[in-house]
Amino acid sequence: MIVTFLGTGTSQGVPVIGCECPVCQSLDYRDKRFRSSLHLSIKDKSFVIDTGPDFRQQMLRENIKRLDAVIFTHAHRDHTAGLDDVRAYNFLQGIDMPVYGTDETCDQLRIEYAYAFAKEVYPGIPRLNLHTIHEQPFTVEGIEFIPLPVMHLRMPVLGFRIGNFSYITDANHIPESTHDKLKGTEILVLNALQREPHISHFNLQEALLAVEKIKPKKAYFTHISHKLGLHAAVERELPDNVSLAFDGFQINCW
Ligand SMILES: [Zn+2]
Ligand SMILES: [Zn+2]
Ligand SMILES: [Zn+2]
Repeated sequence: MIVTFLGTGTSQGVPVIGCECPVCQSLDYRDKRFRSSLHLSIKDKSFVIDTGPDFRQQMLRENIKRLDAVIFTHAHRDHTAGLDDVRAYNFLQGIDMPVYGTDETCDQLRIEYAYAFAKEVYPGIPRLNLHTIHEQPFTVEGIEFIPLPVMHLRMPVLGFRIGNFSYITDANHIPESTHDKLKGTEILVLNALQREPHISHFNLQEALLAVEKIKPKKAYFTHISHKLGLHAAVERELPDNVSLAFDGFQINCW
């Protein structure tokens, strides 16, 4: 499986419009962060976890010409706002796009993309085939996804474990039952928003504590704000088994 970070930024992205801080002004390509999402290439299958507002640019950048399914963590706009652009894959592949999310996520998609679910549809709209998922493992195109329920303030969010790889974005609490599901994971991706505490995301210190508890071989942080600091400077502070992810970074998982 090859994992590609399509985006590693928080909801505003980095740089933030109009911001003149050193991170937003940085020339380091690793300080340019699209909204967070992931591409998974497994055998000959191609999946994305979330389709944020930068989805089109991300798929163009990575030259991804095929997509077999979209899997959603939750329905916040920074994770769903690019869904209309799956039209490209509807046209290319001649299929309705399978989309996986919880009941709450699917309900929200039906509201936000009402035109795609209308009785009489305008030609050229995205064709979506919603599948409801729960906390039990599910299979997409023969690949098993294990949901990792976490809390994002009061909102339930799903992370996902695929084999020895686990992805958790948008969390400020990991329940013990999910810690059990994370046991033995070798690669862990976790949100680390900024240095200061935040109401709905782990900050850097909390994310490091979670890594110490989960004990993966390697952890990568994502969903990063401009307030975290320059990529190169933060990297120097981190333990050996922890790195910041950046846009376009790839992991070969097996
Ligand atoms: Zn800034
Ligand atoms: Zn969120
Ligand atoms: Zn988010």
